[in-house]
Amino acid sequence: QRAEWEKMVNVASRSKDGKQFEIAANIGTLKDVSDAVKVGADAIGLFRTEFLYMDNDSLPTENQQFTSYKQVVQAMAGKPVVIRTMDIGGDKPLPYLPLPEEMNPFLGYRAIRISLDRQNIFRTQLRALIRASQFGQLRIMFPMIATLDEFRKAKQIFIEEKQKLQKETPGIGNNIKVGIMVEIPAAAVFADQFAKEVDFFSIGTNDLIQYSFAADRGNDAVSYLYQPLNPALLRLIKHVIDSAHKEGKIAAMCGEMAGDPRALPLLLGMGLDEYSMSASSILRSRSQMRSLTTDQCAAIVDEVLAKCQTAAEVEMLVNQRLAGRT
Ligand code: PEP
Ligand code: MG
Repeated sequence: QRAEWEKMVNVASRSKDGKQFEIAANIGTLKDVSDAVKVGADAIGLFRTEFLYMDNDSLPTENQQFTSYKQVVQAMAGKPVVIRTMDIGGDKPLPYLPLPEEMNPFLGYRAIRISLDRQNIFRTQLRALIRASQFGQLRIMFPMIATLDEFRKAKQIFIEEKQKLQKETPGIGNNIKVGIMVEIPAAAVFADQFAKEVDFFSIGTNDLIQYSFAADRGNDAVSYLYQPLNPALLRLIKHVIDSAHKEGKIAAMCGEMAGDPRALPLLLGMGLDEYSMSASSILRSRSQMRSLTTDQCAAIVDEVLAKCQTAAEVEMLVNQRLAGRT
């Protein structure tokens, strides 16, 4: 099977019926980029920039960040690179940035909430990103967006920094697409409205599942509630994808679910455009994608949503239909 996957490095991420998709890599360090390139990732679908903040003893400077972003974008040689603004706080403390102790860190002061509050940190990161965008196809993504107001504020700050930089470098940053992580249930439910204003969605199922089922993603005692195939979650995901497409926008997924072989037929059936996962899952997913037909997968999605009430029922029905049983 490994030999079979090796053949997948240089072939297209295409369904059996010839529809083109993107299978992208999630990266967390500069070293991860070479793994992504090795397996022929179509893009970087999620660059977690936290390491720049965690592996440092003070806030990373604009130039430090610029150098890192530029390296990633150049290594991908024109393929899209989605860089997520910092998702620190909560359970990821920074020694040099004192944050308040919290009862519920996952529901607390983190990610875009810190960025909008401590704008100097956010503006520094945005300037580094805008400068790096000159070296490839860079996209910016905001984490933990709950409301449209948050997105509008973050986008406005991006525009302000872009305009400042454009005084020296006309046109800089004009090719940057700006999107959001859909990982908070309120944003998923409201995806039809978000879709009018964002350039793309990336569904963060790790957090979307955690918040939808109110179950800490790191707590073994409630891990049975981590259910990517639960029909309630599937409905939510389908709504996000449909909402993006209605406005002509891209729907991506960068949570673990995107690389889950049990979920791929359903996501393909819903028309998800981009699947971003750890580089080690890419060849397997591409091979599986090339064995699936979008029409058949869409029919399976319809049947699943009409009939299934539990994750186990979903899994069984998908397996039966793919095996050609009725
Ligand atoms: C997610 O929440 O699904 C995600 C991709 O982001 P992270 O795992 O970094 O929270
Ligand atoms: Mg997340």
